[in-house]
Amino acid sequence: MSRLVVISNRIADPRKPASGGLAVAVGQALEASGGLWFGWSGKIVEDGTPGEGDLHLQTAGNVQLATVDLSREDHDSYYLGYSNGVLWPVFHYRLDLADFDAGYIGGYRRVNHMFARKLANLLQPDDVIWVHDYHLMPLAAELRAMGCRQRMGFFLHIPLPPPLILAAVPEHDWLVRTLFAYDLVGLQSDADVAHFSRYVGTETSADILGEHEFRAFGKTLQVQAFPIGIDVDEFQALGQGRESQEMYAQMKGEYSRRRLLLGVERMDYSKGLPQRLKTFRHLLQTYPENVGSATLIQIAAPSRESVDAYAALRQELESLCGAINGNFGELDWMPVRYIHRNVARKRLPGLYRAASVALVTPLRDGMNLVAKEFVVAQDPDDPGVLVLSRFAGAAEQLAEALMVNPYDIARTAETIQRALQMPLDERQRRHQSLLTRVREQDVHWWRERFLNALANVPAP
Ligand code: UDP
Repeated sequence: MSRLVVISNRIADPRKPASGGLAVAVGQALEASGGLWFGWSGKIVEDGTPGEGDLHLQTAGNVQLATVDLSREDHDSYYLGYSNGVLWPVFHYRLDLADFDAGYIGGYRRVNHMFARKLANLLQPDDVIWVHDYHLMPLAAELRAMGCRQRMGFFLHIPLPPPLILAAVPEHDWLVRTLFAYDLVGLQSDADVAHFSRYVGTETSADILGEHEFRAFGKTLQVQAFPIGIDVDEFQALGQGRESQEMYAQMKGEYSRRRLLLGVERMDYSKGLPQRLKTFRHLLQTYPENVGSATLIQIAAPSRESVDAYAALRQELESLCGAINGNFGELDWMPVRYIHRNVARKRLPGLYRAASVALVTPLRDGMNLVAKEFVVAQDPDDPGVLVLSRFAGAAEQLAEALMVNPYDIARTAETIQRALQMPLDERQRRHQSLLTRVREQDVHWWRERFLNALANVPAP
């Protein structure tokens, strides 16, 4: 078996369970092959030299962890600037929020070049290399330029936008060309693969050899959908844990007379939070029986607070929540509980289980794991209802959720009302189908499908 080498912006110690499903799944694959995990250490060196960073090597079981520090300048241009100020908004269809002219591209290229330089020394000839996410798209091209001939795969965790949106990135043709340095590119959904295919058809001179096979720049590339899943067993075990049980008991006690609606996400403009609050307000106005009896708990965990667009979003949310609570609240009932803090993963299953309805209504999302976690955390005898945006990658798999267009506030409110009134047998039926699929297509299924596909790409 070849050694697996995983590269991602941040790495996790696979022995620490708090890291989440992806770390567990990737960690297991690395342990099976005696692998290497490479990424940024998380450390920023204030007066460091751009394009330089110390390499740290650590051993965790039979997995080697290799991390590199970033200079302040590299961090601000590669991570905050190009990755999160250009690629994140554009790939989530928010051209209005992208900061194209700030010259961040230099830092992005420099850090990818440095990662490749540091990594190349650690590679063995028959390694299999798996690169993750938008921070590192050009990494394989950098490695190839240094003479690395190993099998290389890339997985994009965020959506791939339609061609005319992607084409707004000044460096779009370069970005897509660098993808052809991989042997396999994995995307979250069939819709993303269709976007790639259309881009290649209209913006490049590539030959489309098949639904999943493209040839350009002297290279054949496979592109397929591999929807990421969660570690169902791990999440169910968290649900049995003390913290989760306590959370459930506390919520059930506190809200015994009320129905709970729940939203859980990082505070991000892709998640549709202002639209969700307006929808909840519309629900209270249109279906007044919910006044005094339905409470929305909205967790918006702090995220990338130094990026400007996030500060504006925070203000908008605070003002919407204040207005809804002021207009509808009563002495013994507040319609919205808005929490701008992270809730520990080990407490989340209890919170999900106490909710009658989950509102997973992003404007655009690569996958959305919260939707899958909510399904797993439910009591199968009395499950809550998942209201899911059709613009989440998860919508392709979770067809038995109540699907909404989050921009359409009136109809989304109508759908939430339907969720609140759904008879028990329908809730059970939908939940059973959802749970079966989330379990079948879990994070291990995802990892094995990707690595098998990479192993089976025909040799050039
Ligand atoms: N999460 C958490 N605490 C919070 C909010 C979110 O642990 O307060 C976790 C959540 O359980 C999920 C992940 O963060 O596993 C979010 O993943 P998702 O795919 O839904 O969205 P992303 O943040 O990657 O855009």
